[in-house]
Amino acid sequence: MRLFCLIALLLGLQASDASEWGYWGKYGPNNWPGICTTGKKQSPINIATEDAERIDLGALKFNRYDFAFSGDLINTGHSVQIRLHGVPIHLSGGSLSSVYVLEQMHFHWPAEHTVDGLRDPLELHLVHYDEQYANFSEAAQKENGIAVVAVLFKLDNYDNPELMPIVETAEMVSNWVGHSMLEIRTKLIPLLFLPKDHTTYYHYEGSLTTPNCQESVMWFVMTEKLTVSEAQLSVFRHIESSNGTLKFNYRPIQKLGNRKVYHRLEGYVSASSSITYSFYTVFSILLVRLLREDF
Ligand SMILES: [Zn+2]
Repeated sequence: MRLFCLIALLLGLQASDASEWGYWGKYGPNNWPGICTTGKKQSPINIATEDAERIDLGALKFNRYDFAFSGDLINTGHSVQIRLHGVPIHLSGGSLSSVYVLEQMHFHWPAEHTVDGLRDPLELHLVHYDEQYANFSEAAQKENGIAVVAVLFKLDNYDNPELMPIVETAEMVSNWVGHSMLEIRTKLIPLLFLPKDHTTYYHYEGSLTTPNCQESVMWFVMTEKLTVSEAQLSVFRHIESSNGTLKFNYRPIQKLGNRKVYHRLEGYVSASSSITYSFYTVFSILLVRLLREDF
């Protein structure tokens, strides 16, 4: 009887595992539960560059992103996820009013966010939570509790050398669905997973792109892209899930609704304010001249 209970418990744990959702079939995105279907601030979105409001929201600050960290890689059955060890890595600045701690990073193939309707072959999510909360799960329940930096990868003829340690480890765990992790053989410098120009980004408020799709995410999609080769992509596309090979793991585009997308440009002064500025300049010059003529 005791053994039976133990087996039932283990089976129960397995059934309630995250494997109940997926990217196709009856567990696909159209059948994801709760707010995933009913929400009004869901992610990912298509970024229409012409419609994005150009504004200088301030630079994002990537603190300790330039340190070298050892890390573990897991095939979660939904993605390839990396956790770094050691001192906390921090994100702040931009329109963030707090400091956010890097929790994990993972990939989507092809990309989840599209830009002007175009989908890149790979997207990296660097997931952070607001340090005023105890952990990621608690922060995910709070407004603006999560900040994700998204990096898009465009196809290139050459391997991206920075991705090699991840790709090689991912290849080794491609059949290990679940929670077995493998240490990545070389240390990783998170800064190398950001484009050189990380001053320019798109920003909007959205959700996690996986169940339970909590609407607590400040999104920062970097404008500049990194590169990935066909051979490297092939490793991602051969990752096994509990429901067959994970040939793709992106959620379809969600409605923008009445949300705004901002395009952060360093030192940008909007067109309307520069027109106002020139009007006052001309006006004051005229005024000075008129006053001078009077005397
Ligand atoms: Zn993601």
